[in-house]
Amino acid sequence: MGFDVKEYAQALDKFIIHMEKIPDLINPETQAAMDSLCQVLRISRVEADFYENLGYEEEKWGGRAVFYHNGECDTERSIVYKEWTEEGNLMKYTISPMKGEAEWDGIEREKIQVFLKVLLTFNGRTRMQQVVERLTFRDQELGMYNMTWFMKSANQIISEGEISKYAACQFNIRHFSVVNQEIGRERSSRVLGKFIRQFQEMLSRKELVCRISGDNFVALFFKSNLNMVMEYLKGTGIVYDEKEGKRVWVTTHAGYYMIPANCDSAASIVECLSIAINMARNVRKSEYAFFDAELMQGIRVGKMIEANLPEALRKEEFHVYYQPKIDLKSYHLVGAEALCRWFQNGKVVAPGEFIPVLEKSRLICMLDFYMLEHVCRDIRRWLDEGKEVVTVSVNLSRVHMGDMDLLKNILAIVDKYQVPHKYIEIELTETGTDVGFEHLKTLVSGLRSQGISTSVDDFGTGYSSMNLIRELPWNVLKIDKSFLPGKSDDDRQKRVMFRHLVALAQDMEIECIVEGVENVEQIKLLKESNCYLAQGFYFDRPLAVTEFEQKLSEISR
Ligand code: C2E
Ligand code: MG
Ligand code: MG
Repeated sequence: MGFDVKEYAQALDKFIIHMEKIPDLINPETQAAMDSLCQVLRISRVEADFYENLGYEEEKWGGRAVFYHNGECDTERSIVYKEWTEEGNLMKYTISPMKGEAEWDGIEREKIQVFLKVLLTFNGRTRMQQVVERLTFRDQELGMYNMTWFMKSANQIISEGEISKYAACQFNIRHFSVVNQEIGRERSSRVLGKFIRQFQEMLSRKELVCRISGDNFVALFFKSNLNMVMEYLKGTGIVYDEKEGKRVWVTTHAGYYMIPANCDSAASIVECLSIAINMARNVRKSEYAFFDAELMQGIRVGKMIEANLPEALRKEEFHVYYQPKIDLKSYHLVGAEALCRWFQNGKVVAPGEFIPVLEKSRLICMLDFYMLEHVCRDIRRWLDEGKEVVTVSVNLSRVHMGDMDLLKNILAIVDKYQVPHKYIEIELTETGTDVGFEHLKTLVSGLRSQGISTSVDDFGTGYSSMNLIRELPWNVLKIDKSFLPGKSDDDRQKRVMFRHLVALAQDMEIECIVEGVENVEQIKLLKESNCYLAQGFYFDRPLAVTEFEQKLSEISR
């Protein structure tokens, strides 16, 4: 029996008329609408898979809708039709014949193509709605929900009175730019996708993970899952090369908020989260922080410091303390580091309390120039008094990077007091970003050409140390105290690392000093390692200017 064209035409009409009444393809009525036509065309199953992009098809991470299913189908002989949308999404339609039936002939295949086209037209309508939804609620790159969705869902949960069951967190992938550099953009995007997907899979449908932007995300999950979430976000190995089993370790900075029952808006959750993550990331430099009363107190103190800074600078409440640097061959004073102390209402505030606050608001730049100016003023006075003077190093925050006039401004201060450049050293720390790196390079080279030396502060605690010392003309490497084994500590690893750091500096012909030297054992280790410059409490704490001047007088004698 041949193909009955008339029967087909009637079935197609019926299908189209029925479909006009259905709002979209993903509808229980679609099956009935398609029934006659599928019978005529001997179709057993019609389904569509939807993927955000091609990569997701490989990962089988998409959505599937079955429009029609009747009897057993022969998937081996299915016709597959793929269509890309303008947004780069992939729709994959699969039409399967009934099992045991003869092959479709040419004319049937032709009609199936027509059926597909009609299907696409209908689906176009459905998809428009999906696209609108996606543009509004979904992040385009990772295909996951975005902030708009987060706000909408959180507000919904609040209105249902369920919010106190939830905790929220905001997280940021640590050193994602470095991962990018190391394994390439495409692979690192996959790593990011996988890291998030695995996270989503750990949670239930009532919990959500949304993307804020770039490598910043926010999640809403049950309080009972807190430990699991924290464990995952602390660090998880993600395989990016299945064949060779290569992995990267993905870690995050996270801010958490245990949402109270009286929470009345999604906006307040977001606000608390951003305060908590900022605390973790920029202030404490820790993996995570919780939004709580203690943190709020810290913020109040921060605001107070910010508000009082200009006044404090004017009243010269900041004092320069000088911590001597000692030559271990002669035990002579050979230099000093200028460290800041804030005298506020008769109390001394340590830099750890106010520098992070000032860095956040960029006010640190004012303080650093103030310090440099006071150091130059002191040196000028010592020179005028005929004292022997040593090189003084001044700390510059990395917040300055990006200031195009930085070198000019430094020189202006030094030259204003006619301080010979050899007496000034600038201490800088490593930066994590490419842009920061370029600025640092310009600055370090510029200072060197002016005869002002530079040192890498806290060497070894940052991330890009090796490139940093290879590519920039530093004069001094300051090895951080965390590399020094303690008194009773016979930490072999630390000793080995320490020796290698010193050797590395020497091989690169960079002077090397160790900070935080507190005991004789450490001095012994320094000498054994061929490092003869030290700074630390064993010799002196940071000294007020009058005390330091006495030290200078001693060397003059
Ligand atoms: P840093 O530049 O690495 O300074 C060394 C810190 O180690 C100082 O802490 C110093 O007092 C401390 N220290 C020195 N010897 C020892 C020791 O033997 N044992 C121990 N446990 N600690 C020792 P301080 O003065 O509290 O300063 C902390 C940090 O604040 C500095 O670390 C620096 O990063 C920053 N800082 C201080 N003054 C300024 C400033 O004027 N501008 C900027 N941008 N940062 C500053
Ligand atoms: Mg320093
Ligand atoms: Mg240091």
